[in-house]
Amino acid sequence: MKKSSFQESINHLRAYLQINTAHPHPDYSSAISLLTNFASSVPNLKAQTLHFTPNKTKPLLLLTLPGSNSSLTSILLNSHIDSVPAETSKWSHPPFSAHYAPDGKIFARGAQDDKCIGIQYLEAIKNLATNQEHGFKPVRTVHVSFVPDEEVGGFDGMAKFVESNEFKELNVGFVLDEGQASPVEEYRVFYADRSPWHVVIKAVGEPGHGARMYDNSALENLMKSVEMISKFRESQFDMVKAGLAANSEVISVNPVYLKAGIASTEGFVMNMQPSEAEAGFDVRMPPTADPELVRRKISQEWAPAWRNMSYQITEKGPLRDYMGKPLLTHPDESNPWWSVLKQAIEAAGEKLNAKAEILGSTTDARFMRQMGIPAFGFSPMKNTPILLHDHDEFLVDTVFMEGIKVYESIIKSLSSYIGA
Ligand SMILES: [Zn+2]
Repeated sequence: MKKSSFQESINHLRAYLQINTAHPHPDYSSAISLLTNFASSVPNLKAQTLHFTPNKTKPLLLLTLPGSNSSLTSILLNSHIDSVPAETSKWSHPPFSAHYAPDGKIFARGAQDDKCIGIQYLEAIKNLATNQEHGFKPVRTVHVSFVPDEEVGGFDGMAKFVESNEFKELNVGFVLDEGQASPVEEYRVFYADRSPWHVVIKAVGEPGHGARMYDNSALENLMKSVEMISKFRESQFDMVKAGLAANSEVISVNPVYLKAGIASTEGFVMNMQPSEAEAGFDVRMPPTADPELVRRKISQEWAPAWRNMSYQITEKGPLRDYMGKPLLTHPDESNPWWSVLKQAIEAAGEKLNAKAEILGSTTDARFMRQMGIPAFGFSPMKNTPILLHDHDEFLVDTVFMEGIKVYESIIKSLSSYIGA
């Protein structure tokens, strides 16, 4: 058994990218059989497919490399199998062909988000396990999970996995999950996600003739709220513009729909004020925000009952862990895993961005942070434009290969760390 060559590693990545695991019909079973087949070429790496849905249409692949000390917590390296859809007509190359351009770019949906890391984990483990010069003997057990449905909220994937007995038995002590590309030389690390809220506010009022001026019409009430929400949005955005906070560190509020008016054959009835009006907002909460405060703001200012308004908040994920603490993993010396990770990246000759970041969107890491398990988001893509969910998503071959080296160092360090 020898370690993978450059070309073999690229072939593995391309083969995985060529399986269409985009929603709405991700081909999970082909992906699982490809990954299982690859895993079987790695000495001591055990594979099992888990199911958490009744008709077994959303499999989860769990690979395990046993460590020598089973009393220590294990390491989990996570990635998701699925991806968002791709508008084929807007791509320069078919999104599931994994076109390999002469300049080294590999174009495919999932090239950055996040099939690259799934294959990099495996390549790194394979290199460590088969190259005896490394003398690689993990003390902690290393698990690699390939989960379904991250791009549709993770509810049938990671959310169910973390609640399972299978997960509890893993005794996970530290998790690495996906991050994002870095346009510069330094890699990025993410220590928290923002949590999405879908907020709908609704106003009711007396209907009336379009010519009449009167108080408390539904639209007047709704527009008062929209004005107030816009002011709040501005206050948050001003902090970003002034350089006082990153985009992902403030509460973002963006209007996504307005619904009002009485339909007519030509469009809307123009001489009638409607009795109902509604607006929807995408709200993103950083873990540092106080959810109680925002809930109060919504009920007292944005949709107060005394202005004939009601509201609905759909929280799309947790904001606090099971202990009630903010959902974040400390990126400083108070967290020993942070130091191990940082040193391992530096030992591979690479650099980390001086400041760890909050991710603007969400990942499955939030479910593990909710269990109180420290989790960082990290995808080793440097000098790479951020193209996740974009047309012409690509990754350069050499960047992918450097990432494997970095994971070798990280996996070696994490699995041999006996402090925590
Ligand atoms: Zn992703």
